[in-house]
Amino acid sequence: MKLYYNNDADLDLLKNKTVAVIGYGSQGHAHALNLKDSGVSVIVGLPGGDKDWIKAEWKKAQDDGMTVYETSEAAKKADIIMILVPDQLQKQVYETSIEPGLEPGNYLAFAHGFNIHFNQIVPAKDIGVFMVAPKGPGHLVRRVYTEGAGVPCLFAVHQDPDGKTRDIALAYAKGMGGTRAGVIETTFDEETETDLFGEQAVLCGGIVELINTGYEVLVEAGYKPEIAYFECLHEVKLIVDLIYEGGIAGMNYSVSDTAEYGGMIAGPQVINKDTKKTMQKLLSNVQDGTFAREWILENQSGRASLEAMRRKYNRLPIETVGKELRGMMSWIKKDK
Ligand code: NAD
Ligand code: MG
Repeated sequence: MKLYYNNDADLDLLKNKTVAVIGYGSQGHAHALNLKDSGVSVIVGLPGGDKDWIKAEWKKAQDDGMTVYETSEAAKKADIIMILVPDQLQKQVYETSIEPGLEPGNYLAFAHGFNIHFNQIVPAKDIGVFMVAPKGPGHLVRRVYTEGAGVPCLFAVHQDPDGKTRDIALAYAKGMGGTRAGVIETTFDEETETDLFGEQAVLCGGIVELINTGYEVLVEAGYKPEIAYFECLHEVKLIVDLIYEGGIAGMNYSVSDTAEYGGMIAGPQVINKDTKKTMQKLLSNVQDGTFAREWILENQSGRASLEAMRRKYNRLPIETVGKELRGMMSWIKKDK
């Protein structure tokens, strides 16, 4: 697999071009600020109107030194338009405020492939379409850049009318600081499918159920909820940090031999062949568009299921205990 570094990308390709970053959330602020500090001409696009959150975002971006326009104005002015609004809003924002401002030779950019891969956004053939997706949350992308390093990025090209889209994508990744760490080429298909599968089976879905089921088993057996919380939730971070830094072997080196032996005996019983079959089914629902259709319809119908499930998860006993215990931990941010 080829990794691309600073020498493989040419920031001069962004000279005389204006980049509009649409949205100033987690990814938006990091893209806009990193590009600006790399000498790229950047503007920010946000909705107009006087809702409080909108006014707060204009102020935040302006306080950060950004020039802000309403989205349609920003899209018109820019040569490269990076869409960093929530995925479920992108189609509407694109159709009402971005598409009318696109001209042949412009580039449309994404940090996640959902809307292109599932045909929610279909740009004209004369628009270059690429993705630059940092493999980290926005605040980390920004912080690591200011420290002189970078967060690794994925990049991909969906549509290349002028033969330059790939080099523009690499230049953009360089402006973000990504080529300081290494950038990997992927496709919109691969990024979208692996991202959805990962968050469902492992990151947001699998881990939560593993934690909560372990907690329930201990509490139902009569152990104190606080002890169960520490064991099944709090310590997950300590173990994941070890795996993140040193792989599975690095974690096993640090824990006791008892934990290593017990883990290897028990793990495959908890996550077994049936679990793997379930994961394969989840992957095929992602691949054949079953999940995308369900999620698009859920949004169109007012998110009834999402809200119901949120209420259910918010009522979990582990959440009540957790809130109390985290109050004892001065090092955890209180504003979450
Ligand atoms: P976010 O929820 O943090 O920010 C969304 C921003 O969109 C808001 O702050 C607001 O500025 C803007 N917005 C909302 N409605 C708007 C409208 N109608 N017009 C213009 N702007 C509007 O979103 P995010 O997490 O930064 O996600 C943006 C994109 O980045 C998504 O495609 C996501 O999949 C991708 N991504 C996110 C992460 C991450 O760590 N959060 C990582 C990789 C990729
Ligand atoms: Mg992701």
